[in-house]
Amino acid sequence: MIDPYKMTNLPTSFVERMQNQCGPEWPAFQNVLQEKPPISIRFNTQKQKPLFEALSPIPWIETGYYLEQERPKFSLDPLFHAGCYYVQEASSMILSIFMQQILAQNQHKALKILDLCAAPGGKTTLIQSLMSSKDLLVANEVIKSRSNILEENVMKWGTANCIVTNNDPSTFQKLNHTFDIVLVDAPCSGEGMFRKNPKAITEWSEDNVSLCAARQKRILAAAVDSLKPGGTLIYSTCTYNDLENRDNLDWLMQTFSFSPFKLDTSVGLLKQWGIHTLTHPTTALQLYPHRLRGEGLFITALQKEGAFVSTTTSKKSKRKNRTKTNVLPTPPKALLPQLHELTQFPDPFHFFMVQDSIYAIAQNHFSELSSFFATLKVRNVGVHVATIKGKNCLPAHHLAMTPYLHPQIPRIELDLATALQYLRGHPLAISADYPKNWVIVSYLNQPLGWVKVLNNRVNNYYPKYWRIRT
Ligand code: SAM
Repeated sequence: MIDPYKMTNLPTSFVERMQNQCGPEWPAFQNVLQEKPPISIRFNTQKQKPLFEALSPIPWIETGYYLEQERPKFSLDPLFHAGCYYVQEASSMILSIFMQQILAQNQHKALKILDLCAAPGGKTTLIQSLMSSKDLLVANEVIKSRSNILEENVMKWGTANCIVTNNDPSTFQKLNHTFDIVLVDAPCSGEGMFRKNPKAITEWSEDNVSLCAARQKRILAAAVDSLKPGGTLIYSTCTYNDLENRDNLDWLMQTFSFSPFKLDTSVGLLKQWGIHTLTHPTTALQLYPHRLRGEGLFITALQKEGAFVSTTTSKKSKRKNRTKTNVLPTPPKALLPQLHELTQFPDPFHFFMVQDSIYAIAQNHFSELSSFFATLKVRNVGVHVATIKGKNCLPAHHLAMTPYLHPQIPRIELDLATALQYLRGHPLAISADYPKNWVIVSYLNQPLGWVKVLNNRVNNYYPKYWRIRT
């Protein structure tokens, strides 16, 4: 059998460049590409802790862990489907160092954050875990099929202050000066993924590197327009070459008004962790797989020049927005008792409708929605609470994934085998005398989704497209 991790056919020009770039470290770099990539996960601190035993911490993120075991079948773990953790490559979690510092510098502001190239949602869910409830995140993916998985992962993570969109980056240019933080985790030539995804080797060429660099410039230009003066642009790729990394950084500095972002490297132990730091023209980190347990990654940040414009909306613009958000009507009054039976929000939340779906979002975010709905293809917003069917509300799966489920909703705790049956979409044989109504099924007390208990059967409402197929 061919070992997928054995790589003998690296492209010659890639080898020559990397020999130059790595210098005496080239043999170590080459050797590590023959090893199995580490497996790592990141916990969702709002949910149940996963059950893995052989864990060791990833040094640069509190919630990140290596799994010191053979790769488990994550799809057979109900806690994975419940959004208790995300399987994410360790190097990409270095984003938390940048995010934590930017958030700390702006902790009294309500921030608007854009994750422009977001699918499948690794960095989106990381940002969701770090931001506060007063901040608002727009997670965007241009490719429609990939925006499905982004939406799924965002819903499973269970926060209420994220909007999922499906737009080309150029559309965000219309949202001039809107965001305080924009992350461009760009599509790239993927040199840093050669070990994890050997297919990237066959797709690599010098021409493709140039194509990627040009595409990245187009994405970055859109990102710059959508960023507020004083806001921060974070740029990352999973590749090593200058064309896509340093040259694009130079181009940004020369083309737009940016100043270097002052990453406080003293708080971390970047050097000890094996992270290579560049300081010109701004701080950038390059992660190599032979220096640490993770794949190749480049990440940097820049500060857009100009005074920071606070997100706090003036009374006048609040009034204006209120008029505009009238296009998002409130649900019929008759349904409100049902909605209040389903949900319990800590702060003032606003219910609104898009077609036959009812969503909820914190009152302060609601006034911001009009420009997003006017400009973007919105796929999900805040918490999808329910869908209207006749005079009733069908509770939405998204609500089951959030902490805003009303605590009085009855629950049925499932064992592992029954939980997997539920996640496969199979009918459940639950004989206990449960109220003939909507009930949450859970595994280790973590909600998995809805069932409807009827007189003679239990209907499974796990979303069709998310079912386990193995
Ligand atoms: N941030 C994601 C995460 O952490 O899970 C990974 C993003 S991946 C490196 C780059 C994303 O950019 C992909 O989802 C890809 O579909 C998307 N993409 C491809 N072409 C694009 C384009 N022209 N403009 C914007 N995004 C693009």
